[in-house]
Amino acid sequence: MGTVAENIETIRARIRAAATRVGRDPDSVRLVAVSKHQPLAAIREALAAGQVMFGENYLQEAQEKVAALGQGLVWHCIGHLQSNKARLAAEIFDCIETLDRLKLARALETRLTELGKSMPVLVQVNVGGEAQKAGVAPEKARQLCRELQKFPHLILQGLMTMPPFVADPEESRGCFRRLRLLGEELAAQGLLGRHGPVQLSMGMSGDFEVAIEEGATLVRVGTALFGERGQAV
Ligand SMILES: *Cc1c(COP(=O)(O)O)cnc(C)c1O
Repeated sequence: MGTVAENIETIRARIRAAATRVGRDPDSVRLVAVSKHQPLAAIREALAAGQVMFGENYLQEAQEKVAALGQGLVWHCIGHLQSNKARLAAEIFDCIETLDRLKLARALETRLTELGKSMPVLVQVNVGGEAQKAGVAPEKARQLCRELQKFPHLILQGLMTMPPFVADPEESRGCFRRLRLLGEELAAQGLLGRHGPVQLSMGMSGDFEVAIEEGATLVRVGTALFGERGQAV
């Protein structure tokens, strides 16, 4: 593996190539650098290479990093969020990608109202239907998206998914495609796309190119960018 800066260059080139292959505008795909269990020094290296959007899974770790790194970074929550942690999440994150239930939406809205802050959110969909995985079932996504319309501080931008783990990225193509089709369906019903183009967060280190071919606008890449993760920081 190269340095963080070299890896970012390589990943950006792969993003552009994948988008171009399917006739998409490469600028329509953004990279979320997944920095969970990576040290501050690695994040600073990425920042120096022009990467400003980061994804974190764990609230306390994210809180420490946000405090240490200051302004100018954009933090996405990509981990499962408990409703009783919504207050803190509302304060530190710039986007919540893992909104999957009404109770959490209510808790976020309450705190965001107090803060006078609007929060871009994505609805996490459990496209693969795995029992142990977070996310709303695809057939329940419409109802949740409809309910979210009544929270003025939640800016519903699109959908996020994490397909079942597979060895061959091609096996995830169907899941990515289903998320895109669901996004199109919800947009046609007026439930998505009210705040600009529908965002689809899908694809990680092993499968982000397939995800881009299927329509991803946000790819969440950790190990391919930073190397193996350490223990919690
Ligand atoms: C950890 C994580 C990633 C990054 O995974 P890599 O395989 O290291 O790229 C992406 N999305 C979510 C939700 C994660 O938890």
